[in-house]
Amino acid sequence: MLKIRPSLIELQPYRAEGEEKQIRLDANECAGGLPAEVKREIADALGRIDLHRYPDILMSGLRKEIAAEFSLAAEHIMIGSGSSELLQAICHVFGGADRTIVFPTPSFSMYGIYVRLSDSTGEAVALETDYSLSAAKVIEAANRTQASLVLLCNPNNPTGTVMPQADIEAILQGVECPVLVDEAYYEYYGQSSVNLLASYPRLIITRTFSKAYGLAGARVGYMIAQPEMIDAVHKVLMPYHVNALSLAAAGIVHANRQAFAAGIQVTKTERARLIAALLKIPGVTVYPSEANFVLLRADHSGELNRLLESRSISIRNFGQAPGLHGCLRVTIGTTAENDAFLQTVQDYYSHKAVV
Ligand code: PMP
Repeated sequence: MLKIRPSLIELQPYRAEGEEKQIRLDANECAGGLPAEVKREIADALGRIDLHRYPDILMSGLRKEIAAEFSLAAEHIMIGSGSSELLQAICHVFGGADRTIVFPTPSFSMYGIYVRLSDSTGEAVALETDYSLSAAKVIEAANRTQASLVLLCNPNNPTGTVMPQADIEAILQGVECPVLVDEAYYEYYGQSSVNLLASYPRLIITRTFSKAYGLAGARVGYMIAQPEMIDAVHKVLMPYHVNALSLAAAGIVHANRQAFAAGIQVTKTERARLIAALLKIPGVTVYPSEANFVLLRADHSGELNRLLESRSISIRNFGQAPGLHGCLRVTIGTTAENDAFLQTVQDYYSHKAVV
């Protein structure tokens, strides 16, 4: 028998559902992809990389560029192979046996998995019925369990809801441990907790190039924190954990980030259009969203999802997930993709299409 670590036996690996569909609105990727000129610049740069060399171990170039955006030194930045790698590393740094990590639920499902992978105990704080997160409940949970880390997701995936800055500050004041704010969808919201870093040295912010900056395939994210935190995270990461191709692509995207502003604006406009149209459909409840996806609760959500699948549209079905009964999450796609999604929902509820 395989002697797998006991804590892994019950753990389900993260998996994307089903076969690949033509219209992919299930992973909160960037609608329409990279601007053509940025794509060309990346293609040119990749050809010049000395692939027989390891990448710069300190990743100084990109760290310095990102740090400058926040008027910080490079020592405040760590790059990861996706922000996922950093979230996992941070759970390893602050978690461990006999330690508790507090996180919201429903939220990004990987938090619970990283908590378990680090042998930590998870303390999940349930969102309210409107999917807001109570700062008082987070503080209570963290203090009761003497938590070693609090994870927050702002905007929250998969609900799209946000936490006011005052609540994040209240949590920082009310708990003793590090507080991580996952800002994977920051660009669609526009409000960040970065300005709290100077006053609260226990604050960690994570961001990603996978969403608004269209580099999901390259896997690059970063964290912003005090240099002591960065040094601690460094201890659990492999040497050369971000490959040279991805580093180069992220550097070019970062230098050209103004070129993404128009696309982000289109996504926000499409989000408003989608929400307004869904609100008119009886049988569908839509939650407000500050991210590049929308959560809806739909009557017969499983059947609606099957109709979407039959038209080669994939979304995320959370129908069976705790706290998300009957919920579907749809990523904001291109106008044509959103139209195809809307048409299907309209057809389903006006009985023009049967599954
Ligand atoms: N945080 C949140 C809230 C997410 O939704 C995701 C991706 N779905 C991630 C982090 C991880 O993103 P990546 O590893 O691509 O940076």
